Amino acid sequence: MVLDAPRTPLRAADRPPPRPEAGQVLLQVRACGVCRTDLHVVDGELKEPKLPLVLGHQIVGVVEEAGPGARAHAVGRRVGVPWLGWTCGECRYCRSGRENLCLRARFTGYQIDGGFAEQAVADERFCFPIPAGFPDLQAAPLLCAGLIGWRSLSMAGDGERLGLYGFGAAAHIVAQVARHQGRRVFAFVRPGDEAARRFALEMGAEWAGGAEERPPEELDAAIIFAPAGELVPRALAAVGRGGTVVCGGIHMSDIPTFPYELLWGERVLRSVANLTRKDGEEFLALAPRIPVRTEVQAYPLEEAGRALDDLRGGRLRGAAVVTPLTPAPLPLPGERG
Ligand SMILES: [Zn+2]
Ligand SMILES: [Zn+2]
Repeated sequence: MVLDAPRTPLRAADRPPPRPEAGQVLLQVRACGVCRTDLHVVDGELKEPKLPLVLGHQIVGVVEEAGPGARAHAVGRRVGVPWLGWTCGECRYCRSGRENLCLRARFTGYQIDGGFAEQAVADERFCFPIPAGFPDLQAAPLLCAGLIGWRSLSMAGDGERLGLYGFGAAAHIVAQVARHQGRRVFAFVRPGDEAARRFALEMGAEWAGGAEERPPEELDAAIIFAPAGELVPRALAAVGRGGTVVCGGIHMSDIPTFPYELLWGERVLRSVANLTRKDGEEFLALAPRIPVRTEVQAYPLEEAGRALDDLRGGRLRGAAVVTPLTPAPLPLPGERG
């Protein structure tokens, strides 16, 4: 499925099979998760995509062939490919354990063709073995929703009372990890979205309300996954002194001005950018021990556009995943909300 230009629909295209270059593996794609970042690329809010582009940066695939010199993954091994697709290894960020900030980084489904396809190639150094016990569809959201969620949670500090703004793919995973760590979870959803509120409670939140509401008690930290800048002052108002607010998305609408009082008291406001391979190794080791259970809604590959629309419209419970293999059952018309 190809994006020719921002703000145009994805198009099904027959392309010659990709060839693995030196250090790359060729993957048969089994499933690929859909992420809000994909919407930001389609909408032209992220300005530097290769075009035409195959979107998708949560790839679960099986190694079909190794390119010259690629030895890390045997043919037949199931691996996952995340957003971080290549780093230079030389810049001051790469050399200090912060490859997520690499000045020359290239990203899957953005500057490198991604996983909304039957086959994909990836740098073998940026492929993670997928833990057994996660079926292909359920594993896919671990690779961005899970990894970025994990990095965001790590950056939120170790406070007990955690707020999650926007209860989609990332939050439903983070809630499970946070509960496993003994934290208490408070979820904020779109005002009036009763289905999302119930979903958050099922996933372990002890309270769920509209994003405009104040939580029943002061929070120690909050993570904002929704791309709405007006949530920043709200989240700052909800955390206590010394609390941290983490913005987990790659793009956000402008943040309104707010009184300094909301930041005073050593509150911290920060973003999380991308991921490191260390985040991936840590999280994929932890996920089966919890165990994280992802809720997915499957779409046939050729319906990737519909998956993006459902994400945009807030019609998902958990994460959307496209698959070129098993035709997913289509929801009845009444079920699309
Ligand atoms: Zn993503
Ligand atoms: Zn670098």
